[in-house]
Amino acid sequence: AKARGGGGYEVYRRGSATKTLERILLENELKKSIQQGHFNLEYQPKFNLKSGTLTGVEALVRWHHPDLGMIPPDKFIPMAEETKNIVALGEWVLREACSQAKKWQESGYRTLRIAINMSAVQLEEPTILDKMKEILQETNVSPESIEIELTESAFADREGLQEMVQQMRELGVTVSIDDFGTGYSTFSYIKELPVDTVKIDKAFVNDIHVNEESRAIIKAIVTLANTIGLNVIAEGIECEEQVKVLNELGCREGQGYYYSKPTSATNCEKFMGKWKVNE
Ligand code: C2E
Ligand code: CA
Ligand code: CA
Repeated sequence: AKARGGGGYEVYRRGSATKTLERILLENELKKSIQQGHFNLEYQPKFNLKSGTLTGVEALVRWHHPDLGMIPPDKFIPMAEETKNIVALGEWVLREACSQAKKWQESGYRTLRIAINMSAVQLEEPTILDKMKEILQETNVSPESIEIELTESAFADREGLQEMVQQMRELGVTVSIDDFGTGYSTFSYIKELPVDTVKIDKAFVNDIHVNEESRAIIKAIVTLANTIGLNVIAEGIECEEQVKVLNELGCREGQGYYYSKPTSATNCEKFMGKWKVNE
């Protein structure tokens, strides 16, 4: 009995120790992968929900570990934020997305807007604005075609964020609020933020065609946005019914698997050929 009891304890301890070890290993692998460049960007197209024309793309990072394979962002972005590795990774994402934007601009997609996700941890870096400026200059991309997506978690410090958004806009980029509706008190102070777009979280879009409450929330967001002159975009659109309801609610732009999954830059070009880019 003693042995079994001890064994049970050992199993439990080994279980948690393994997790910690796994975590340490993964953190270490993340750092190595950042140095060795085992990342790429996929792009998910955004569409005008009425006309079906392409309005832009969102860059989404992918980690291809040489042994572990593809590791999804949900698994490593939070870890990268905790360990601050997101600072180096985020810088790579910015540079890569801006270079891609430049390439597309040179191929004639001049008004194509590329959205780039930035974490609150990146914004805390005192050098972030200089870094952004440097990357914009270095890649020689026109800043109007760059959109920065910030999530509500970036909003702990209201005044700091307001200042940050203002300074980003002075660089010439546009700013949007990601995952809108999921955080706290956003409705009350979205007015104070000089952002261009709010992005309705896919949690609300998901059941929009069957859930009255989700519809009411989206309606409220669209009304608010129209009142204060913001663009609205819906994410996570998976079926035609959702497009229909979103149109009825006055939401004009969206993205989701119904249109396209995130895909390579090259694949996106096929979309651009098929759906004429806004002139
Ligand atoms: P997000 O910014 O809200 O991005 C939307 C996520 O929803 C993406 O997941 C996208 O692939 C997925 N998605 C798109 N359409 C649909 C749909 O119709 N249905 C469903 N169920 N999902 C859809 P992904 O690429 O796995 O990224 C997850 C999150 O990781 C992102 O959420 C974002 O918060 C973060 N992330 C991704 N790339 C970056 C990056 O470069 N920098 C930072 N800081 N965060 C990133
Ligand atoms: Ca996003
Ligand atoms: Ca989201």
